[in-house]
Amino acid sequence: MFKAFLLKYAEIGVKGKNRYIFEDALIKRIEMALEKIDADFTVTKESGRIYATANSEFDYDEVIDALKKVFGIVGICPLVQIDDNGFDDLAEKIIDYLDKTYPNKNFTFKVNARRARKNYPMSSPEINMELGGIILDAFKDAKVDVHNPEIMVNVEIREKINIYTKVIKGAGGMPTGTAGKAMLLLSGGIDSPVAGYMIAKRGVVLEATYFHAPPYTSERAKQKVVDLAKLVAKYSGPIKLNIVNFTDPQLYIYETCPHEELTIIMRRYMMRIAEHFANESGCLGLITGESIGQVASQTMQSLNATNDVCTLPVYRPVIAFDKQDIIDISCQIDTYETSILPYEDCCTIFVAKHPVTKPNLNVIRNSESKLGEKMDELVKTAIETVEVVWCE
Ligand code: ATP
Ligand code: MG
Repeated sequence: MFKAFLLKYAEIGVKGKNRYIFEDALIKRIEMALEKIDADFTVTKESGRIYATANSEFDYDEVIDALKKVFGIVGICPLVQIDDNGFDDLAEKIIDYLDKTYPNKNFTFKVNARRARKNYPMSSPEINMELGGIILDAFKDAKVDVHNPEIMVNVEIREKINIYTKVIKGAGGMPTGTAGKAMLLLSGGIDSPVAGYMIAKRGVVLEATYFHAPPYTSERAKQKVVDLAKLVAKYSGPIKLNIVNFTDPQLYIYETCPHEELTIIMRRYMMRIAEHFANESGCLGLITGESIGQVASQTMQSLNATNDVCTLPVYRPVIAFDKQDIIDISCQIDTYETSILPYEDCCTIFVAKHPVTKPNLNVIRNSESKLGEKMDELVKTAIETVEVVWCE
């Protein structure tokens, strides 16, 4: 029944002179999403609206699923497209469409006609009135509700006539690639994939860095992070994942520094190394899944100590979220089931029994200074031996 989709966008609409840049980026992302599935679509822009029109048969659910992952789309409207064969024909097709689409005829509705082609012989209010009457005659239980209708019968008169009543919620946000690039510190947990998703949603391209500590962390733990990056990439587009072997720096910190400071010092080195890769590839910020007070390393004092080593801005989109709110998003974007797989990540192995919760910056800096040049060498080696995996 549906041969095309009207794709609604919101925020892009207010971009003034630059609007076309955002629209074109959105069209490109829609094309990329549809290329991945077995269907042939043409994506066009027409007076502030974007249409994806099918040139072949397609699987409806698969197309909706693909479009729901495109940032920048707020609403997906499956369209019935008909030729203009006069008003009586239009009315007949609308009745037929409503009949097939809504088995229960006990609905409230409103007709919303939009005449983009001004040579159509009736005005929009006339179309609304006429169609409204015809629908009431056809379905005796239906009622008009102009304020809060259950079904909005949208009729767009263009070259062809588009009819739609459904608006499926899109991902929202801004089209990927309209806001530069950032480096996500991606662990195998629940929070960092959500953090990456949230920043990507604003149009930012993601790159990611994962620190592992073989043999203390398993191959499966690493695979889990690759899988998470792939899940986020379904929304954000391909993610270059830097996998850093952090075992030697970590063991050396373990030997040299007070154990209650381990996590903070380790986190500072993670930030430094991630920032190195970020600068190398032109990222304009770092992203973490930190949330105030969630664990000892995420108190305000700990965040301050971690932030101390960064020059790039650190984006922490879940900073004020409760764990349950983060879990809700991870369920919604489908990363939750993977995140809760039980494989250890490197932080959980080298944790002290009583980590500091209010680290003093001078104390931390002083402990770190004991690591000396040997640490610089270990960090250098970790950077040089990075393994890169493209996740898409
Ligand atoms: P998550 O659920 O994202 O793993 P967490 O609650 O386990 O977070 P921490 O272990 O304190 O929290 O990590 C805080 C943030 O530091 C993570 O959200 C992530 O951005 C980053 N991070 C932690 N461990 C790693 C790692 N092994 N590799 C890359 N980044 C990491
Ligand atoms: Mg973690």
